[in-house]
Amino acid sequence: MSQPAPTATGGQTYADFYRRSIEDRDGFWREQAALIDWEQPFDQVCDDSRAPFARWFVGGRTNLCHNAVDRHALAHPDRAALIWVSTEVDREIVYSFAQLQAEVERMAAILVSQGVRQGDRVLVYMPMIPEAAFAMLACARIGALHSVVFGGFASHSLASRIDDAEPTVIVSADAGSRGGKVVPYKPLLDDAIALARHKPAAVLMVDRGLVPFERVAGRDQDYAALREQFREVRVPVTWLESSAPSYTLYTSGTTGKPKGVQRDTGGYCVALAASMRHIYQARPGETFFSTSDIGWVVGHSYIIYGPLINGTATVLYEGLPTRPDAGIWWQLVEKYKVTVMFSAPTAARVLKKQDPAFLTRYDLSSLRSLFLAGEPLDEPTATWMAQAIGKPVIDNYWQTETGWPILAVCNGVEPAPTKFGSPGKAVYGFDVRLIDETTAEEITEPGRKGVIAVEGPLPPGCLQTVWRDDERYVKTYWSSIHGRTMYSTFDWGVKDADGYFYILGRTDDVINVAGHRLGTREIEESISSHAAVAEVAVVGVADALKGQVAVAFAVLKDPSRAAGDEAARALEAEILKVVDGQLGAVARPARVRFVHVLPKTRSGKLLRRAIQAVCEGRDPGDLTTMEDPGALQQVKDLVQAG
Ligand code: ATP
Ligand code: MG
Repeated sequence: MSQPAPTATGGQTYADFYRRSIEDRDGFWREQAALIDWEQPFDQVCDDSRAPFARWFVGGRTNLCHNAVDRHALAHPDRAALIWVSTEVDREIVYSFAQLQAEVERMAAILVSQGVRQGDRVLVYMPMIPEAAFAMLACARIGALHSVVFGGFASHSLASRIDDAEPTVIVSADAGSRGGKVVPYKPLLDDAIALARHKPAAVLMVDRGLVPFERVAGRDQDYAALREQFREVRVPVTWLESSAPSYTLYTSGTTGKPKGVQRDTGGYCVALAASMRHIYQARPGETFFSTSDIGWVVGHSYIIYGPLINGTATVLYEGLPTRPDAGIWWQLVEKYKVTVMFSAPTAARVLKKQDPAFLTRYDLSSLRSLFLAGEPLDEPTATWMAQAIGKPVIDNYWQTETGWPILAVCNGVEPAPTKFGSPGKAVYGFDVRLIDETTAEEITEPGRKGVIAVEGPLPPGCLQTVWRDDERYVKTYWSSIHGRTMYSTFDWGVKDADGYFYILGRTDDVINVAGHRLGTREIEESISSHAAVAEVAVVGVADALKGQVAVAFAVLKDPSRAAGDEAARALEAEILKVVDGQLGAVARPARVRFVHVLPKTRSGKLLRRAIQAVCEGRDPGDLTTMEDPGALQQVKDLVQAG
């Protein structure tokens, strides 16, 4: 049975809770810090004497792995911790907290045996298999930094990350699998190491038996053999000062070269523990299912660390949302009694193209809510999804940099209505302001558009700096708003009278048509309200007369609707009429073109800048994080055909 969600803060209003997080910052976070274990208490809640750098819980000593694994293994050894499901190789394994701890200790012993010490980096280039989680948690256990790179990333992208992280050890596997097709990783990894300046001391290979691979003598180590060797070895946690770095992770590379985000230990642990209560509302002993990938921030925060820190089991899923059929996720919800799910709008749009009957075939009574983040959640998709599963669908907005939500509805504090199209209000701890780009003044009146910025210091859990580049951290994030030292999200938005924000697109993507500034999101939302459209990307293209015009690329639910020039033109006219009616002629795209697939990053974000570059005949720039190069080719072909 679905139960009402737990409220942790007993009757206080969200407005009070939020105000206190800003006005009594230290008192507020001192309370939240009690959600985790400290080996040694901290002396100071926040040291921002070197602003914009901030240190949280200064002097305190803790450990992410202890909080995510050991403390629960002690209290509830047999409770499920990690539920691995692979529809690629047809296997399911449930690890209890005690079993997870044993595996993590073995992995930690192996890493130590290969020379990994506190502060060293370990690069994880892995498919979605349990050993990837063991490796991340083992790093946290011994104070090494993990740098997870999406499994299957091309050699040159991997090589640049190897050179940036300079890992002592790389953990990898023979192959991943996607849609039943084996994707060999080892040749990509060998090429990447050959290309990189830095050479790791060892490569730890998990052999899944999917594809034979060559071993480099003296460098490549066999995980299974070492695991046997270290089967009974215990590795105590290394207690770390709260500000000790825990990992580095790259942003998605949607707007250019990815930035290496560096995270701390104590602040991140507290932030995640608090978010599980106040935002996601999962209880210890329940099951959380995030459909993300460990290569992305959502995978770090809400597949691995967040749920486990909370004592909640987490599902690690290897496979597609549509294989063996579009019911697979919901089958898992039924089987493992998932209470909270987390996915991305892009995945919801994939499901939208399928028969909704798949979503109602299973018993979803355990499920309380589905959270979506990563891209604007358009109203039609949100409504479709909520109706299909009969549960609340909740948007939340954040970035790799912040590690957890900036904008959300904190139902764990005070239940609040969800407004479709809005990820919600400023989250406690984030002093969010809307800033006018030209005057740098704060916008207070509802409905006026501006940049979403945050007054420093950022709350616990956010990036400490850009890995090995303090200057880039200050210059990129804290110097873009003229005359003010504020953190810029580089997203453009608007706020309503109730304090709900609406994301209008990235500041880079704002389209200026004859002096009217439009967010790509506004036009995309309007186009996707046409029943034939599954997904759409809008970009601004240079125009001699108007400065810029909008051009749209749409994927149809049924591609045959645009088969042939005549049908395509007729549908284009219909869609333009919708935009005219909703936003006015100024927002009307110059063209709506139909494609089978849109260029996206591996984390599911539309690569608008690449589409725009192609439309303007420019070089699309850094495409290392692109999912399917064929998608951009189709755009190129269409543009060239005129
Ligand atoms: P890069 O910074 O390298 O260009 P990226 O910004 O796409 O890539 P991420 O950190 O993965 O990298 O994504 C964060 C961005 O995703 C946000 O800044 C915002 O543009 C978008 N985003 C995330 N969640 C939402 C949401 N709920 N609604 C709208 N946009 C969102
Ligand atoms: Mg970004």
